[in-house]
Amino acid sequence: MTIPKVENTVIIGSGPAGFTAAIYAARANLKPVMFEGLQAGGIPGGQLMTTTEVENFPGFPEGITGPQLMEQMKLQAERWGTECYTEDVVEVDLTQRPFTIRSTEREVQAHSIIIATGATAKRLGLPSEKTYWNNGISACAICDGAAPIFVGEDLVVIGGGDSAAEEAVYLTKYGSHVHLLVRKGEMRASKAMQDRVLANPKITVHWHTEAVDVFGEKGLMTGIKVRNKQTGVETNIAAKGLFYAIGHNPNTSLFKGQLELDAVGYIKVQPGTVATSISGIYAAGDVQDHEYRQAITAAGTGCMAALSAERYLSEHNLITEYSQEVVTEKEVVTETKTPEATENTFDINATRHYGGYALRKLFHESDRILMVKYVSPTCGPCRTLKPILDKVVAE
Ligand SMILES: Cc1cc2nc3c(=O)[nH]c(=O)nc-3n(C[C@H](O)[C@H](O)[C@H](O)COP(=O)(O)OP(=O)(O)OC[C@H]3O[C@@H](n4cnc5c(N)ncnc54)[C@H](O)[C@@H]3O)c2cc1C
Repeated sequence: MTIPKVENTVIIGSGPAGFTAAIYAARANLKPVMFEGLQAGGIPGGQLMTTTEVENFPGFPEGITGPQLMEQMKLQAERWGTECYTEDVVEVDLTQRPFTIRSTEREVQAHSIIIATGATAKRLGLPSEKTYWNNGISACAICDGAAPIFVGEDLVVIGGGDSAAEEAVYLTKYGSHVHLLVRKGEMRASKAMQDRVLANPKITVHWHTEAVDVFGEKGLMTGIKVRNKQTGVETNIAAKGLFYAIGHNPNTSLFKGQLELDAVGYIKVQPGTVATSISGIYAAGDVQDHEYRQAITAAGTGCMAALSAERYLSEHNLITEYSQEVVTEKEVVTETKTPEATENTFDINATRHYGGYALRKLFHESDRILMVKYVSPTCGPCRTLKPILDKVVAE
């Protein structure tokens, strides 16, 4: 009988916390296995895949887009030997050692686990929310703001934190006007973000205001009923889009009943550490942090988690060391821009084409099925889909 392989450490989640943990664990020759996630609790790459410019991550004086930053982190983690699976973990058994982690595709055993499953945007649960979800209501302005149904229209953002402020400012690029509904008489957003909101003539802040319901016509949202919490007066705001920016729920349903969680559901860690209620299991990033919730704090705790896991494995004589074949920079697969096809270079029999000329020619002259891949540089979900579509085309 063959003894099943037990991994040194499994990392669940591929945001800044997960990838930083992966880089440190991989550099310590632990050959970590990472479940990047697919649909549960966000998308591969985490929350930064849904934002444009990240201006506060050290090392990028000119800023960097969220998807680019996450791509760089993934390349760095893979360069040092992290084994990545773009799969959701659906079950864990933390009651026996080694621990068991089941994804949609496989079952893995591990001596230690780093949980970096982040947090998911909350919904309000308005009476007509289901009817207008994706037909006006969205939880991601960055992903959906440029959709034709929102362009040139009045839009509404709900929330008083940094995300709400950022999304309101972002939506002014597309909407004709943005209404920001804030439940209290002040915002939780940083001073800098508030200043940007209040200085923007395309944003109206409605203080002490809560949403009552949305309404629409022919399946599309056309407005929102709001209530002033001080006066109780209800009014309608005509708007084609409603964007929730009201905070997050930690992605911890997998661990309920097995790990200690706080009242909201965040994983409890011992103060000043990333140690959970079970030795050998560590929690990093937003899944255990309801206070700072930043990429750099997530990355910092990811580093702590990997170092702690290494110490734990070493103290318990559980380490299997893997010598590394470090991929040199030249070997790392980086995105290269293929030149667009021209009249001279276009070959109708080729499988892959690039650019508008080829698309027009194929559309009119080819009888083969065409798959058109459009990836905006700032679209996280598009970038997630890109390698999957590449595989489909290759097959
Ligand atoms: C719009 C927006 C803009 C932001 N801008 C900034 C900014 O400019 N600067 C900054 O510092 N911070 C910013 N933040 C906050 C920052 O994105 C988060 O603090 C950070 O991403 C948290 O990282 P994390 O690794 O803990 O989790 P996340 O980024 O939330 O990643 C969680 C990961 O876990 C995976 N996952 C969840 N469940 C499972 C499962 N069952 N199985 C497998 N995988 C799973 C998800 O797929 C995802 O990959 C922003 C956030 C938002 C929403």
